Amino acid sequence: MALQTAVAGPSFLRDLYTAAPYNSASFNRHQNLMSKASPNHFIRSIASNDIKNGKHEYVYTRFPPEPNGYLHLGHAKSICLNFGLAKDLGGRCNLRFDDTNPEKESDEYMQSIKDSVAWLGFEWDKLCYASDYFDELYGFALELIDKGLAYVDDLSAEQMREYRGTLTEPGKNSPNRDRPVAENRALFEQMRDGEFAEGELVLRAKIDMASPNISMRDPILYRIRYAHHYRAGDKWCIYPMYDFTHCISDALEGITHSLCTLEFQDNRALYDWILENITLQKNHIGEAGKAMPRQIEFGRSNLEYTLASKRKLIQLVNEGHVNGWDDPRLTTLVGLRRRGYTPASIRNFCAEIGVTKKDSVIEMTVLENAIRHDLEANAKRAFGVLDPLKVVLTNYAAEQTESFVVRNHPKDESMGTRELPFGREVYIDRDDFMLDPPEDFFRLGPGREVRLRYGYAIRCEDVIQDDAGEVVELRCSYDPLSAQGKTADGRKIKGIIHWVSAAHAIDAEVRVYDRLFNQANPGALDDVTEALNPNSLTVFDNAKLEPSVIEADPQQHFQFERVGYFCFDSQDHQPAKPVLNRTVSLRDSWAKAAAKG
Ligand code: ATP
Ligand code: MG
Repeated sequence: MALQTAVAGPSFLRDLYTAAPYNSASFNRHQNLMSKASPNHFIRSIASNDIKNGKHEYVYTRFPPEPNGYLHLGHAKSICLNFGLAKDLGGRCNLRFDDTNPEKESDEYMQSIKDSVAWLGFEWDKLCYASDYFDELYGFALELIDKGLAYVDDLSAEQMREYRGTLTEPGKNSPNRDRPVAENRALFEQMRDGEFAEGELVLRAKIDMASPNISMRDPILYRIRYAHHYRAGDKWCIYPMYDFTHCISDALEGITHSLCTLEFQDNRALYDWILENITLQKNHIGEAGKAMPRQIEFGRSNLEYTLASKRKLIQLVNEGHVNGWDDPRLTTLVGLRRRGYTPASIRNFCAEIGVTKKDSVIEMTVLENAIRHDLEANAKRAFGVLDPLKVVLTNYAAEQTESFVVRNHPKDESMGTRELPFGREVYIDRDDFMLDPPEDFFRLGPGREVRLRYGYAIRCEDVIQDDAGEVVELRCSYDPLSAQGKTADGRKIKGIIHWVSAAHAIDAEVRVYDRLFNQANPGALDDVTEALNPNSLTVFDNAKLEPSVIEADPQQHFQFERVGYFCFDSQDHQPAKPVLNRTVSLRDSWAKAAAKG
């Protein structure tokens, strides 16, 4: 495979350091970030007051995904909030699948969600499924019918919309609203027995068609669906709606604080109405819940240049714009994991963005900084050359080799040392050479001198070009008296570049990712594919790595000095054919580009 595309924006290799590779200011920021692991926020205050005041014995939350896709970064926020709150306050948290839409849900999605929650580092108290409550939910629906609080309606979807009214006009009553209880009950049983077609009848709550809150204008509780359910099979052809299911599931599990995103604000009145009007047995309200569960809304967080909607992600996967749900360019949790994000970095990102009462848009740098901080402290350093240019040291004996003992981490001695082999031929990155460099280019050019990091100073004596004029090899001299960062005559060498010994190099494929979208809010577009960045993937299929990399544990993360942070690709890497992903660049090249204008 040839080099596919160029990286948009400034080349990531150009943001080199020439001085100390470690920056203590960023280390301190990292420490601050770590200390935010248990953030204080309004929900935490509410929950701890409820315990203090004796409303509940302890906090019991749940994370309730629908198994209709893979989890993304938005879900991580909800996971960290629900599990984190329970953990911090000594409570419990369930993982509950909100699985009441049979057409869209599957076992594959359910399994992947379990894996992602566990990968993020959380343990659920109970694993629950709304579909396990179908019998009970049906029973509660009958109870509402018997109390005259629910009725079977046959208005068409269009009529229903028309009867519902608008924000400024009240709705009007359905002609079926006063159907006698016995008739409602018989019809609902017939719905369950499969005697009606999809869309023919629904069960509605009888609340108030003039309510200023449209959610309270006789909302639908049950609809008919002839679809196979991935867990319940074909037992049911009527399925409860989200609003009916969610509050009852919460109550059945003894949930104390039901945390959801802002779009459910208007549904809270319905949540409470349903729980007030059904008879929950004492054993329905778990030990923690002396009182009914309380719904509390928080703002969604969406990351710029990414999608946080399972439905839109499915389109990208199904139409082949990305290579599956775990494509490293996606901010699905499986994609981030494959890209090299650690669970701690995602938890820290969630702590950093916090929990507020407003929706928020988060800049990409916040996520990238979270992983940089983690890897800066924890990734082993190594040398990797992505786009190699051969350098022959003409005054270095052909048969000679040596090695330099170097630290695996500049700040952390406990990470040990390694031997970096060196010989007559080395590879450097093509970006570190220019045929006609400007004055302030502190790397290699004809006649110029540069230091090979940890090694010798070299001077470019001769440039070999092919017929097309492309530089194919550099002939350099090395200064044998320039080891250990010094020169015998005290001359200063400004530029320091990374390199890999050609005789010892490991060949590898390295995948460098850029933003998948070139618009900040692709989710707002009707067709998200219009905003795809054509240069989101660059494959370096001839990369050269120092040999220690391949001896490492495949879970290991690396900082290729001056290049970025990398990990092995979990799908395609093989020891005989290494494949690595760039997790993140060393610095934010987009911010730099924007600043330059
Ligand atoms: P999607 O549109 O991707 O399906 P969803 O909200 O419908 O998202 P669910 O599986 O129903 O997905 O969500 C599980 C939980 O995660 C819900 O409580 C939901 O509010 C929360 N959640 C989803 N996306 C975000 C987000 N961007 N920010 C915060 N919380 C989110
Ligand atoms: Mg949903």
